[in-house]
Amino acid sequence: MARLDPGGTLNVESTAFRAAIEAVRAVEPRIADAITKELHDQRESLKLIASENYASPAVLLAMGNWLSDKYAEGTIGRRFYAGCQNVDTVEAVAVEHARALFGSPYAYVQPHSGIDANLVAYWAILADRVEVPHLRRFERRQVNDLTDTEWAQLRSAFGNQRMLGMSLDAGGHLTHGFRPNISGKMFDQRSYGVDPATGRIDYTALRETAREFKPLIIVGGYSAYPRKVNFAALREIADEVGATFMVDMAHFAGLVAGKVFTGDFNPVAHAHIVTTTTHKSLRGPRGGAVLAQPELADQVDRGCPMVLGGPLNHVIAAKAVAFAEARQPAFAAYAQQVVDNSQALADGLMRRGVRLVSDGTDNHLVLIDVHPFGLTGRQAEQALLDSGVVTNRNAIPRDPNGAWYTSGIRIGTPALTSRGLGVGEMDQIADLIHTVLTGTTPTEGSKAKYQIDPALADRVSKQATELLAAFPLYPGVNLA
Ligand code: PLP
Repeated sequence: MARLDPGGTLNVESTAFRAAIEAVRAVEPRIADAITKELHDQRESLKLIASENYASPAVLLAMGNWLSDKYAEGTIGRRFYAGCQNVDTVEAVAVEHARALFGSPYAYVQPHSGIDANLVAYWAILADRVEVPHLRRFERRQVNDLTDTEWAQLRSAFGNQRMLGMSLDAGGHLTHGFRPNISGKMFDQRSYGVDPATGRIDYTALRETAREFKPLIIVGGYSAYPRKVNFAALREIADEVGATFMVDMAHFAGLVAGKVFTGDFNPVAHAHIVTTTTHKSLRGPRGGAVLAQPELADQVDRGCPMVLGGPLNHVIAAKAVAFAEARQPAFAAYAQQVVDNSQALADGLMRRGVRLVSDGTDNHLVLIDVHPFGLTGRQAEQALLDSGVVTNRNAIPRDPNGAWYTSGIRIGTPALTSRGLGVGEMDQIADLIHTVLTGTTPTEGSKAKYQIDPALADRVSKQATELLAAFPLYPGVNLA
């Protein structure tokens, strides 16, 4: 059963959500209205945003309570505040589930998001590889014991480290060392990309760059790469050049949890440290987590207050629920269905003559090259939105339109798979997308403006609504 609980607890859910919204309405009706309208909008839209999903009612309800009221800086059993016994229980259960789910010796569930998880990981690696050796060399126990000169040397060493990550236009993420992000300001970064002929990672070129650049960290993982990554090969390269190997599996954590990515393609088996979000393919609450080898555990545990604010205990509770859900056999079926759907969508598009980056997909996402339609990603994204199809524009390898307008549309199947849609529906969706792209004309001289026949947009939108009607979202929730 791939979809969310199809309503076995219908009355309980309706009562719980209705009570919550009425409590909010009594104080600020505009917020109650926005929450209600969001459910309506999500029910009506064909959500193909690759990084979004629908969390289960149990996950959502675990967040709305008084765990939020507690300060709990520190780690389980070692807090800077008294009275953390229940928060300790919550965090310990989340850690237990995360470790078992991913087969990891250590898990840290406090990061508030994927970006925060990456910051925790970078500073853990810097502490392990830069701070600890400096302290040893100066024969000091901790940073407060350093003289001003020693401290200046250590600070300068922090700022002089190298990172190798995937380039943005090949699908990497801003937090993998790009200048607009703090990671780009912290590290001297170099990128690896994809082979222009295949759209796949060029491991030979990556190895050469690593040998020449000698980075402290090699980052694997992506936001918009439609293929499996051979993490065993990346680890081999990292070992050869003495780099710490980190994987950001924010996008595909659900495929790792659901055992779709195993062996060489399972990052947890090969990386020194793995970061993730919990709200994308993993279908949990908005949040992050870090998994690590034992030698990095003490450094990761310093995440809060090093770079994180106090733990969001209510969200950690919801992470525990989501991890428990992901340990059920039904989640493995869900993860496999996500990929089956993504491949069906890719096949449907290619059969209709649409060009895809790397000519297909191995994971939950598909990257459409809209250049052959004469469109920018921005024009295509807006025309699809006019037609009730929610996607996002994305750069493609060597994108002639840059990171803002782009030439790509990224689509993904985690959310629609949670609603219960299958491969048959994916072909219909491929047809809707193709209809919109062929029916959209760019405005001369503009990368943003376009024309689409309103009747065509309306027709596609109605078809999308009809398609979704058979797959109700949160069927147990009735707010009327
Ligand atoms: N890492 C990757 C690979 C991502 O794709 C994203 C989000 O899109 C993030 C990190 C950031 O996650 P968050 O928005 O939870 O901070």
